[in-house]
Amino acid sequence: MDTQTIAAISTPAGEGGIGIVRVSGSKAYEVADKVFRSAGGKRLAEIPGYTALFGAVYDGQERLDTAVALKFKGPKSYTGEDVIELSIHGGSRVLTRLLRAVLGAGARLAEPGEFTRRAFLNGKMDLTQAESVMQLIHARSDSELRMANAASMGLLSRDIEKLLDVLSELAASIAVFSDYPEEDLPQLDNGIFRKKLLTCQQALNEKLSRYDTGRMITEGIDTAIVGRPNVGKSTLMNLITGATRSLVTDIAGTTRDVIEDTVRFGGTILRLADTAGIHNTDEPIEQMGVDLAKARIGTADLVLAVFDTSRKPNTEDEQLIESLQGKTVIAVLNKSDCRAYDYKPLVSAFPTVAVSAREGTGLKELEKTIGQVVGTAGFDPSGATLLGERQRYAAVTALSSIEEAIKTLDSGFTIDAVGVCVDDAMQALCELIGKRVTTEVADQVFRHFCVGK
Ligand code: GDP
Repeated sequence: MDTQTIAAISTPAGEGGIGIVRVSGSKAYEVADKVFRSAGGKRLAEIPGYTALFGAVYDGQERLDTAVALKFKGPKSYTGEDVIELSIHGGSRVLTRLLRAVLGAGARLAEPGEFTRRAFLNGKMDLTQAESVMQLIHARSDSELRMANAASMGLLSRDIEKLLDVLSELAASIAVFSDYPEEDLPQLDNGIFRKKLLTCQQALNEKLSRYDTGRMITEGIDTAIVGRPNVGKSTLMNLITGATRSLVTDIAGTTRDVIEDTVRFGGTILRLADTAGIHNTDEPIEQMGVDLAKARIGTADLVLAVFDTSRKPNTEDEQLIESLQGKTVIAVLNKSDCRAYDYKPLVSAFPTVAVSAREGTGLKELEKTIGQVVGTAGFDPSGATLLGERQRYAAVTALSSIEEAIKTLDSGFTIDAVGVCVDDAMQALCELIGKRVTTEVADQVFRHFCVGK
């Protein structure tokens, strides 16, 4: 590990009341003492840790600003090393000059995320906690903040460690059995093995589903509004977004491509896409719109399938229903103000909400049903949640190795073969929390950090 003393401006660019230059490493006190002079003449190197000195910072003989220097003693610091934080006024020029002076005094400029990287390498936090730091900085909602805090307290790592305990117990008994075949050990109990593997499978499935729900809460639910022409898709879109963005007309086929908008709808964020009316057409441009709509159904987290209850259900509605199998769908029975036909038998497979997009009724019910259907309604953000694609990928890899282990066990292969799968699963889970992680993985994580963090 690189042990050079590093420094960076740790507060955001721009003007503010306070700006901080952070210095970390074995020479932190020595470097800071070259640029900071305390009012009482004390040196940072000689005062106890966790105390502050008031004084001024200098670039050579030039006084830059009044300052407060705060001393942390390694290993009880953010990075685990000796750290000095120099707080001055938050102006970009004065901070840049101070940083330059600190670099001139013997520190080197920190790379993005290097303070947190050092904290990780010095065992102050594991990888999931390090990643939660970025999540916390980027949090825009209370839910994101709570998810980041849960991870920073190590809740996720604790859950993953529990799975690792179960798997290492399995791995250990497999190892004993295969290393001492001549010892006449009692036969391993496949039933117990299977049960433990199933517990791990269930736990990982639960984590992955929480991840999807958490992602929908933080990034919004990718929602496609679909239906045949003139059922009221654009009117519904406009009602939800509160703006007349999609063109609403009586002429079928007005929305030719996809119109998108992101709105907060009750407790959730919807990334709405109003699509062209799905119907059978010979018109090539219209057909393109229909194809785009169908593609949107394929990728959406949620489909709002709109039906016009003032008109009789037809084969196009039936075809639409068929194309929605396996998707998360809410059937929106529109035009409830002039309802004439019963659509319930047609949409019996899906939760339904009656609305009048024109009159603006039924929205509350729609809001509630969305929360229930996608799982955001009952989601507790303070539980342990996977943060980010890296963690998700590790969990998916572990899950597929566990599923492979169950399959291997069930098809009567030797216990060694099951052991290989268990080892693979453990490797993936170790990577998730940063145990036995390669430099490339660490690089990948910290590359996304800002300088000074
Ligand atoms: P789209 O082709 O599915 O996007 O449908 P539009 O939103 O363009 O609406 C088609 C027609 O239905 C327009 O004349 C709307 O005013 C009308 N419409 C939409 N929603 C309602 C509703 O809830 N009640 C009634 N009576 N008419 C509606």
